[in-house]
Amino acid sequence: MIEIKNLEKSFGNLEVLKGVNLKVVKGEVLVIMGPSGSGKSTLLRCIAGLEEYQKGIIALEEKNIYDYSRKTLVQKIGFVFQQHNLFPHLKIIDNISLGLIRTKKMKKDEAYEIALNVLEKVHLKDKAYNFPSQLSGGQQQRAGIARALAMDPEIILFDEPTSSLDPSLVYEVKETMVELSNSGKTMLVVTHEVDFAKKAGDRIIFMKDGKILENMDPDTFFKTELKYEIA
Ligand code: ATP
Ligand code: MG
Repeated sequence: MIEIKNLEKSFGNLEVLKGVNLKVVKGEVLVIMGPSGSGKSTLLRCIAGLEEYQKGIIALEEKNIYDYSRKTLVQKIGFVFQQHNLFPHLKIIDNISLGLIRTKKMKKDEAYEIALNVLEKVHLKDKAYNFPSQLSGGQQQRAGIARALAMDPEIILFDEPTSSLDPSLVYEVKETMVELSNSGKTMLVVTHEVDFAKKAGDRIIFMKDGKILENMDPDTFFKTELKYEIA
């Protein structure tokens, strides 16, 4: 459902993606690993339509992402960032409902129903009427995941969703993501978490210097892992 051909992206003179080729099928969980600066976030941002690129094609369901309106793309592709980006002045339920009301033009009641539903999926229904500051870091990140889920996107992109968390909070977010991966969502996940990759990943790509050096199933990857510094 996502097909990337020969993607090249530069920031000024700096070539960041140097001919990336990738296919991701519906329901697949693709884990993206690689050292800092290898282009992982840039790749996700290009797929989400947040960056322009110089060469190549990114197609979603056989249609170039440039040919989708911003509004359609936002509904088809969810993004969970390193920081949750919740609005501090809005209750969790309103943070989640906002996109539904604005983009999908839903009534508040309908949006609330969906918000409560996705909060249940990330085990946070009891925090619906709290403000983000009243949640732990892991709970805030799970609320960020719920917000992405609420739009019912076909694909969710995760950019190091656990890396800003205190180590004691990483587990609950990872478990939420493992549960999500079992629900059949297409997920592209940039992470250094090896156990998540092993448990939930269908495939792993390893990036370095703007190129995909390896593209294989987790078992094979971790047998050959010692070739690379994963983090
Ligand atoms: P990390 O693991 O540290 O998050 P990454 O693999 O996600 O790294 P990117 O954020 O994609 O790496 O960055 C790849 C390269 O592009 C880096 O050299 C970075 O400095 C550069 N870069 C990223 N965004 C910009 C930008 N907006 N302007 C200029 N250079 C950028
Ligand atoms: Mg990054």
